[in-house]
Amino acid sequence: MPRHATAARTLLAWMAFAAVAACGGGAATSPAADGTGTSGTTPAATSLSAYYITIPLCTEAGGADCSKLRLGDTELTTTTPARGKLFSCVPGNPSGPGSNRARIDWIDFTGNTWNLLRKPFLPGGSFTAPAGTTTVTETATTRVIAVNNLPKDGKIGDWPMTKYALLTAIDGNPGTPAPRTYSFELPLLPAAGLAPACVGMGAIGATLNGVVLYNAIDARGNDAVAHEIVDAFGGHPAMTDYHYHFVPDRLDTPRLADGHSGIIGYIRDGFPLYGYRGTGGAELTNADLDECHGHSHGALGYHYHATLEYPYTVGCYRGTPR
Ligand SMILES: [Zn+2]
Ligand SMILES: [Zn+2]
Repeated sequence: MPRHATAARTLLAWMAFAAVAACGGGAATSPAADGTGTSGTTPAATSLSAYYITIPLCTEAGGADCSKLRLGDTELTTTTPARGKLFSCVPGNPSGPGSNRARIDWIDFTGNTWNLLRKPFLPGGSFTAPAGTTTVTETATTRVIAVNNLPKDGKIGDWPMTKYALLTAIDGNPGTPAPRTYSFELPLLPAAGLAPACVGMGAIGATLNGVVLYNAIDARGNDAVAHEIVDAFGGHPAMTDYHYHFVPDRLDTPRLADGHSGIIGYIRDGFPLYGYRGTGGAELTNADLDECHGHSHGALGYHYHATLEYPYTVGCYRGTPR
């Protein structure tokens, strides 16, 4: 088959996927992607090591081992929420778009672990997007968060990734981010539901940085953060719909007075998502959280946390998703 025909088929597969609002392709992430060390990398780089990034969270003592993170591919459930799993409303679609497994050298498919420090990220470059916007409006009963789905801090990679031969051979995501309005009308004081609710595809919440969050899986139901290539700032597009599958650690600031992370954004059930750190400032792991990836303490009430462990943001909805 001529090369252009193959490319056209790939594009069609991506478009079909984006049409159902699933995660777009390439996805993934590193929780701490901040772009350090990647500026100036050219599309013509000959080694994947040109695309590795420095992740400050990975150098902290006591947190997750970034060279050996548990692979989430087998941690999806559509029946029973459980700590460390994603309670998904849908199973994965094995024929959905995603990365080329044969070219992934940072995942140990036998040991079910992956190495965030040896995963490539699309660097920054000449691509620029319109300014990101976020507004949060509160009334006596509701909180409305509206975004244009572009990063308010302006940090975004050099999309489309097809300019980068080494990267596109691994992850054929053809997307280029563009503005898209999202507005979530949430309860100001959310309540827990009778039972945890499953998490669907597409946006599961919005960050104060103006970009929506998707859940932990790619279209195939695999660990998106492990498999798919995102930019050095933590996001990637599903066609034009930019999103994060984990929390870029530059967003985990400022902290509260006791060292606990601040609010990163709001989830569709109205509960807030905080960053990586608990009271005292120590990085949290799944062991500190419940099956929905949250906990309740002090004046903060119930809230979710980011972790470097799958499912990264939310395992299930504790409240009722809007
Ligand atoms: Zn994605
Ligand atoms: Zn907390």
